[in-house]
Amino acid sequence: MTRKFCVSCGKTEKELISGLCSECFNREKVKISVDRKVKGMVCRNCFSIYYKRWNSFSGSLEEAAVEAAFVAAENNIYVENIEEPAVGIEALEVISTSPRDYLVTLKIRVKDEKRNIERSLDVKVPVKLSICPTCQRSVSRYYEAIVQLRGLEKKSPDEREKIRAAMEKAILSQNDLNTFISELKKIRGGYDFYVGSAKAARKAVNILRGKYGGFLKESSKLFGMGRNGKELYRITYLLKLPEFSLGNIIEDMGKLYQIIWLKGNLVSLFDLKERRSSGTSLSKIEKNKIVAEKRDYIKAIVTEVRNDEIQLLDMQEYKTFYLHLNIALKVGNEVNTIKLNDTYYLLKTEEED
Ligand SMILES: [Zn+2]
Ligand SMILES: [Zn+2]
Repeated sequence: MTRKFCVSCGKTEKELISGLCSECFNREKVKISVDRKVKGMVCRNCFSIYYKRWNSFSGSLEEAAVEAAFVAAENNIYVENIEEPAVGIEALEVISTSPRDYLVTLKIRVKDEKRNIERSLDVKVPVKLSICPTCQRSVSRYYEAIVQLRGLEKKSPDEREKIRAAMEKAILSQNDLNTFISELKKIRGGYDFYVGSAKAARKAVNILRGKYGGFLKESSKLFGMGRNGKELYRITYLLKLPEFSLGNIIEDMGKLYQIIWLKGNLVSLFDLKERRSSGTSLSKIEKNKIVAEKRDYIKAIVTEVRNDEIQLLDMQEYKTFYLHLNIALKVGNEVNTIKLNDTYYLLKTEEED
């Protein structure tokens, strides 16, 4: 019988694996890993566990969290260079990181008895508390927050629908499984969204407020006790959108302003006569009259530029008109204008700050 040497450490052994002793093979070739994105999910109402589908579970919430971490990890272990590994998983630690999340530390052991190989790995698996579809249905009209979207009465049906859809999308796209809308009520001037997750509701409201501006009011109401004796609150987010939108032209003390930027309570206005922008707050201009909207814009082409006079061609009526302005426009530039009482006004151009 020939003696075999491990090519890595030189040790002799009866059987080598790919030229290595079992110790070196174990160290150099065997790899175990768990998908980084692995996470578990538990229904916080009935403790059933989600993995590909919801499965009922009997035990405490913490036991369910451990089980969810097990199931999730078990299906995502990758072992290299052991053909039929024996896998053992053991929970080392379970901590509640927030009212919604657990973090379960698992020790994963991989064995190959025949070749005397064993490796282990500690992984932390986040477990999210959610609400399963069954509970969602049985806990009738479950919701944690109401989003009251207001200020839509003066908007066109198209715009109203666009804003409603934007809010729905913002609520449902939050990375949290409780972001279902359990009820949508259409009411005068807006909508009430009953939302499964208060966190998702708050995020969604802020997204819409960033996009359309508006006033936000938050209030909460005690509605019961949780399992652990904690008080449960339902939160109402009232978002009142301003009557005007980006691009509207408003009148203030006989002067015309174009709304060029809108966020939360802040607004940027462009003075159509002085040709400069300034900032103000929503509450200051809220009552001002809207004299034109984007759909009233008239496209025009610059056809002649003199010192302080520009000739433009109205692309709707195909007639030319003059404006006394000193802006660095070139012949051929396309601009937006509005026409009020037979007078044309040039809207902010790309050449202006
Ligand atoms: Zn060796
Ligand atoms: Zn459930």
